[in-house]
Amino acid sequence: MFADFREIRVAAVRDLTPRLRRITFRGRDLGRFATSDNLHVRLYLPPPGLEAPSWPRPGPDGRPVLPDPERRPAVRYYTLRRVDADAGELDIDIVLHEDDRHDGGHDDGHSGEAPGADFARRARPGDLCGMSGPYGLGVSPASWYLLAGDETALPAIARILEELPDDARGTALIEVEDAADELPLRTPAGIAVRWLHRRNAGTASPLVEAVRALPLPADSATLFAWVACEFDDLARLREHLRGCGIDRDRMLAVAYWRRTPPGASAKGISA
Ligand SMILES: Cc1cc2nc3c(=O)[nH]c(=O)nc-3n(C[C@H](O)[C@H](O)[C@H](O)COP(=O)(O)OP(=O)(O)OC[C@H]3O[C@@H](n4cnc5c(N)ncnc54)[C@H](O)[C@@H]3O)c2cc1C
Repeated sequence: MFADFREIRVAAVRDLTPRLRRITFRGRDLGRFATSDNLHVRLYLPPPGLEAPSWPRPGPDGRPVLPDPERRPAVRYYTLRRVDADAGELDIDIVLHEDDRHDGGHDDGHSGEAPGADFARRARPGDLCGMSGPYGLGVSPASWYLLAGDETALPAIARILEELPDDARGTALIEVEDAADELPLRTPAGIAVRWLHRRNAGTASPLVEAVRALPLPADSATLFAWVACEFDDLARLREHLRGCGIDRDRMLAVAYWRRTPPGASAKGISA
């Protein structure tokens, strides 16, 4: 087994909103995951119904050797919303998104259409999966913060807001389907949170429109922009923020998922 790999089991399942499901996992030796520096993990999701899953193992040259395709777990990135290493517990909030493909197929041997969302839909206490990490970054210290993302970024934004200093200032823009998807957030008083609803928005990308319309502080060197959302929206936001004079080292912009055009496959997009 790789040093950063753990087996974890579902301990509890709870819906936070109609489209966001919190899964509490139990596992051993979670100390390396309890850090504010790296927020994300890879989840290894075994094909449904497999009693004894197989995991990638180090080969003779140290590179991963994958299990046979029919036993191979699907790999998807998720955010650690909470880690309590002493209790051996962690929470991951998973969006129960619809499948936007129309061909009904999947490229990694899984019978489900979306292994991440499907795992969350089926999850029962005792279900086994794998986890490796942690990976990824949060925000760098700044005098003003922009946090912008859709519901897949909501767990990361919620965690970043909780961990910012009390005197932090800035704006968080969060795109969700409608008001039922909003969550209470623990936020420094100087951070304004705005929820953006796709339903009846009159635009396909309320997040992109809202970021473009947001006045930024004049001195872009003192702000930090953290952005995570759909691939094409992300490209437009990154271009806008670069056009506002924000340097690469004052920005973290990551595509969390990619909309699949009708008839196309999702191969190579996730994980
Ligand atoms: C660093 C990082 C952290 C992340 N953290 C989280 C997290 O904490 N919680 C979370 O829910 N997601 C998170 N994501 C996003 C998640 O990894 C993707 O949404 C992933 O594609 C879900 O995999 P899936 O198996 O459900 O769907 P896939 O098999 O990847 O895709 C199946 C189909 O569903 C579509 N699809 C995928 N995601 C969405 C979506 N959100 N809305 C609509 N359609 C979608 C795809 O376009 C595709 O057509 C994170 C991603 C990254 C890179």
